[in-house]
Amino acid sequence: MKITVETLIKARVGKVWSAYTSPADITQWNAASDDWHTTTATVDLRVGGMFSSRMEAKDGSFGFDFGGTYTQIVPNELIEYSFGDRVCAVEFMASANGVTVRVKFDAETQNPVEQQREGWQAILNNFAKHVEGIPDIMSVILEGGCLCGKVRFRANQPPVRTFACHCKFCQRVTGTSFFAESIFPLDAVQFNDGELSRYEHVSDGSQKKVYVHFCPNCGTTVGLTFDRWPEVRAIARGCYDDPNAVDITSHIWTGSAQSGVVLPAGIDCFAGARARVDGQPEQATRHDLPAMARLG
Ligand SMILES: [Zn+2]
Ligand SMILES: [Zn+2]
Repeated sequence: MKITVETLIKARVGKVWSAYTSPADITQWNAASDDWHTTTATVDLRVGGMFSSRMEAKDGSFGFDFGGTYTQIVPNELIEYSFGDRVCAVEFMASANGVTVRVKFDAETQNPVEQQREGWQAILNNFAKHVEGIPDIMSVILEGGCLCGKVRFRANQPPVRTFACHCKFCQRVTGTSFFAESIFPLDAVQFNDGELSRYEHVSDGSQKKVYVHFCPNCGTTVGLTFDRWPEVRAIARGCYDDPNAVDITSHIWTGSAQSGVVLPAGIDCFAGARARVDGQPEQATRHDLPAMARLG
């Protein structure tokens, strides 16, 4: 007969999968009660690969190896394994509320079914507690906000690129020489509840709208979105709590740079955009030494 236990874990599926299959994590969650623990674990995560966990009573009075062989693996979705003459399937089902982990296994015949169910459920509950307790480092890799602090944002991944733009729009929208900005996938940046105002500007070049997002309280330009590239957003590098956490990897529209602006050595500089309207990349210039963007 089969026994099924399940739990809902409030975490990303990648994090749940990783904690379920990493020996360092397994030793932290694989126990049915506080007086038991897993002292060592090995995982060879491939079909035909083996796993083993050494489970011991903390007082050393009893212990055994729990091991088996993987028979099916679908990353972030399914693990099946055989152990002895029994089989077990572990499903990972991601939803808006988190990840439901369902473990379905063959009962053994020595202990009552209810006791087996309770034991496996207790381990699964421990697993959920462990995963939910892991700090979500990925979701706070970059943080920032406006001058007054009412608008705050955090990014859950590094920017795709960060560049300094010397175009006339960027000079005017920042009120300074150039706009250092990072490009992110749209949903990689989350904002707090602070109100963000939006100004619509029609680009001279493309005739498409650029949206300037700014704090209505202090006026800080926090970022841009674009009708032309709806899948990304720009975030002002000056708004990061630590602007030096990201490097500027190119300068663009240097042809309209202000006098006195110095371009660094060894970095791609483009007189105009990085690419043509049809997507063809433009030629970059790299200076051997820092160079004035505009002579005279
Ligand atoms: Zn503000
Ligand atoms: Zn620009």
